[in-house]
Amino acid sequence: MIAFERLTVAYPGGTTAVDDVTLAIAPGSFVALVGRSGSGKSTLLKTVKRLISPTAGRVLVDGRPVDAEPAPLLRRRIGYVFQGIGLFPHMTVAENIAVPLRLDGRVDPERVAALLDLVDLPQEVATRRPDALSGGQRQRVGVARALATEAKLLLMDEPFGALDPMTRDALGQAVRTLHDRLGLTTLMVTHDMAEALLLATRVLVMAKGRIVADTTPAALIAGE
Ligand code: ADP
Ligand code: ADP
Repeated sequence: MIAFERLTVAYPGGTTAVDDVTLAIAPGSFVALVGRSGSGKSTLLKTVKRLISPTAGRVLVDGRPVDAEPAPLLRRRIGYVFQGIGLFPHMTVAENIAVPLRLDGRVDPERVAALLDLVDLPQEVATRRPDALSGGQRQRVGVARALATEAKLLLMDEPFGALDPMTRDALGQAVRTLHDRLGLTTLMVTHDMAEALLLATRVLVMAKGRIVADTTPAALIAGE
């Protein structure tokens, strides 16, 4: 589903954020990418959606290099929930969810209603603005928007970081349920190992731009 081949990303200032990473992510897996702040997690994630270009090496999605098609087409197939969510404050929830659909020229109230259902939000939030929602509800809107184009690949960058622990747990479970039900391939950046162990089928640890551990929750818990 995703393959990184000898991927290196160096920023203009001289920081090598991703250092020669080779990695394959199987369809249907839920991968947690953990590591300290600055270890290169966000940079690695962004190369999948072509928000950052590699310095060397390449990234493939569904067997094709990400630069083999126009970026908007690639991006439609990839849902992305980023830190802070980035909902538009002046738009309603429904309008926010419809942003990726509108780029297609398709705005469909039934589709918006179905997406609200999908993330267990009541229909009445559709006409509210983001600041009238709780943090957990806003995050659900972010997930609904990410899935609006029926993307099968879901990328999340610290999606639950700003939430209180109970909301965080509930939302994590909700995302895992969606992942299973929709047959998604999910790559989630987190610095919370407990969350990674709870939700993921595979845990990658990143340090200084490299993948330094590649394991499963079961193996980690068994102390292997
Ligand atoms: P995190 O990496 O955990 O998302 P940071 O505070 O390190 O949080 O970075 C926030 C954003 O600022 C990142 O998305 C990155 O693009 C940008 N950024 C981080 N470090 C630098 C830097 N040295 N120079 C310019 N931009 C940076
Ligand atoms: P993480 O997501 O693990 O916190 P990042 O990928 O955000 O790590 O950052 C990896 C390294 O690259 C850090 O040293 C960060 O300061 C640097 N970095 C991130 N974004 C930029 C940027 N836009 N310009 C320059 N350096 C950056």
